[in-house]
Amino acid sequence: MKKKNLGLNTVCTHVGEIEDKQFKGAVSPIYLSSSYQFMDVDVKRYPRYFNTPNQEYLSKKIAALEFTESAMIFGSGMAAISHMFLAFLKAGDHIVVQNTIYGGTTNFIREEFPKLNIEFTFTNGYSIEDFEAAIQLNTKLIHIETPSNPLLTVTDIKAIAKLGKDKGILTSIDNTFASPVNQNPALLGIDLIMHSATKYFGGHSDICAGAVAGSDVHMERIWNVSKNLGGSLSDFTVWMLERSMKTMGLRVKAQSKNALKLAKWLNKLEAVKHVYYPGLKSHPEHQLAKKQMKGFGGMLSFELKDNLNPEAFQKALKLIKPSMSLAGVESTVLSPSQTSHSLLTASQRKALGIHDGLIRFSVGIENVKDLKADIKQALKHIK
Ligand SMILES: *Cc1c(COP(=O)(O)O)cnc(C)c1O
Repeated sequence: MKKKNLGLNTVCTHVGEIEDKQFKGAVSPIYLSSSYQFMDVDVKRYPRYFNTPNQEYLSKKIAALEFTESAMIFGSGMAAISHMFLAFLKAGDHIVVQNTIYGGTTNFIREEFPKLNIEFTFTNGYSIEDFEAAIQLNTKLIHIETPSNPLLTVTDIKAIAKLGKDKGILTSIDNTFASPVNQNPALLGIDLIMHSATKYFGGHSDICAGAVAGSDVHMERIWNVSKNLGGSLSDFTVWMLERSMKTMGLRVKAQSKNALKLAKWLNKLEAVKHVYYPGLKSHPEHQLAKKQMKGFGGMLSFELKDNLNPEAFQKALKLIKPSMSLAGVESTVLSPSQTSHSLLTASQRKALGIHDGLIRFSVGIENVKDLKADIKQALKHIK
């Protein structure tokens, strides 16, 4: 079968399967060996070399989904991002980072890079001019996140890729929020695509994992660093991830459809001050999102009117649980100021536009009518 001609759900279901030649079972076997023979073999396998059979084969599925030559799976999204950054940055190098990104990535850069003498600049905004202005002679990497956490800003992927190519600088993206179902940055020219596989890849709130996809040459460079840092994933979890990814196309499409409906509905509610969702016509980058995304994703954020207490609202929800993390089949909400962005100061948060009342909504696969009813009863409860 030629990978290129397969549809999304077929890739999710079949690419990277390990054939069970011995018993002809329907699904990939789990290979748990941490010791493999070294004589008369093509590959010297070892879990921390990221090349056990389950790791090697699931990587093919991820590469196929992101239209890259190669991919690697890591123990977490932060392992993926840190191994990727450290493979391309050394002392004296500089990275340009989008200002509105995942809080954990910001913390990693701010806390670890000074110890390693790696220079960094967070952009003032997410326009091309903002990125261009931050570039220095020693810039080696430009890192973006779109749609971003938690305000769902949209960065022009193609323009960033072109900027990188023109200046001879590599580009990387955190593609977690969109997932490969809604956005394929490699097709727009981005070099390195990173995911927290804890989110849509896993999709059931029971796995912590990460992934990076890119060219063979770039992935080999990451592998050379990763084998030293050792952030590989256990084969049990790799297998769980394979099972989860079979339904990723179905799940993410259902979540994106639900999110669009809910964003439009919330936008009309008296109690809601503002909705952040790239699928809304009122979103400042709606046209750009339409151009570079296939769907607008399952994440949205909103602010309640000032007289309504966001904490009381979240507590009053019955079906939708206030929970950390995102992208499970079950809907969840959280306050970024109390969780993902709690380590930033109040003024840093304000500068990013993250108000204390902001509620991030990870839309699940439940029936929209039930989600609406839950929100309605919670609003009534706090009035
Ligand atoms: C969760 C998340 C990460 C970090 O992933 P972990 O699996 O928690 O390490 C990175 N980027 C984004 C956008 C995320 O949502």
